[in-house]
Amino acid sequence: MKNLFATLTIALAIPGISTAQEQKLDVTKLTENLHMLSGNGGNIGLMTGPDGTFLIDDQMAPVGPLLKETIKNLGGEQPRFLLNTHYHFDHTGGNEAIGNADTAIVSHGNVRKRLKNGSTISAFDAKTPPAPASALPVVTFSQSMHFHLNGETLRTVHFPRAHTDGDSAVYFEESNIVHTGDIFFNGLYPFIDTENGGSLVGTIAAVQKLIATTDDNTKIIPGHGPLATRADLIAYQDMLTFANASMRDLKKAGKTVEQAIAADPMVDYDAKWGGGLFTTEKWIGLLYASVI
Ligand SMILES: [Zn+2]
Repeated sequence: MKNLFATLTIALAIPGISTAQEQKLDVTKLTENLHMLSGNGGNIGLMTGPDGTFLIDDQMAPVGPLLKETIKNLGGEQPRFLLNTHYHFDHTGGNEAIGNADTAIVSHGNVRKRLKNGSTISAFDAKTPPAPASALPVVTFSQSMHFHLNGETLRTVHFPRAHTDGDSAVYFEESNIVHTGDIFFNGLYPFIDTENGGSLVGTIAAVQKLIATTDDNTKIIPGHGPLATRADLIAYQDMLTFANASMRDLKKAGKTVEQAIAADPMVDYDAKWGGGLFTTEKWIGLLYASVI
């Protein structure tokens, strides 16, 4: 199914960028005016059209010039709206480079709070300082919001206590496409930011809602990993539900985190989900304390 979507790699050398990683963005065409852009950070959604450009997430700061160039190459302009699915630096790092007075940055209220105050993610030993005013959302919402442009209805929905405390998914209703933010890691054990309001049960509930509001033809842009289908989302839910039940059982049995890791509960899932961000040991280690 994934092979059906044409993928074009654009790798431009941007002078003046000093970063350890080469900046690159893979472009996946979803419709004539909707694209998924993938590179070193979270996946980006891009809609272009006569009513303006709508951008969902912007990876990390160094990608800014390449992202601008890519938007232009795909027929877009300075974004009219930039929506942040959550506060993490690999989804909002380009806010300062991309945003300007013509761009309204939009997010759930907790995203603005965490960007404004700065944040800590101990799991990655990552401290992000407070963002400058120009990188902050200027429009925030608490539950949902609709945008109407380019013949499309974009429905933004907040999912509480999922990957963080400020996650949103964006549905392109006419095109039957959804950007899930980091509620969905396709083919990878997910990072769940329990230190900043996320939870495994909240993520499972959010994924359930996403499954209930998509169909077999929906193209799903996950926060990380390749473009997905509803079947991929269902497999993800199965894995998360199993992980939650296993960790609960181990906890009920009084196992320490070391014993839970040694019990190797995810052995049947490792081949499919374990090759990404975390080893299974690290993943269980991060989540075990938060499982109730
Ligand atoms: Zn994230």
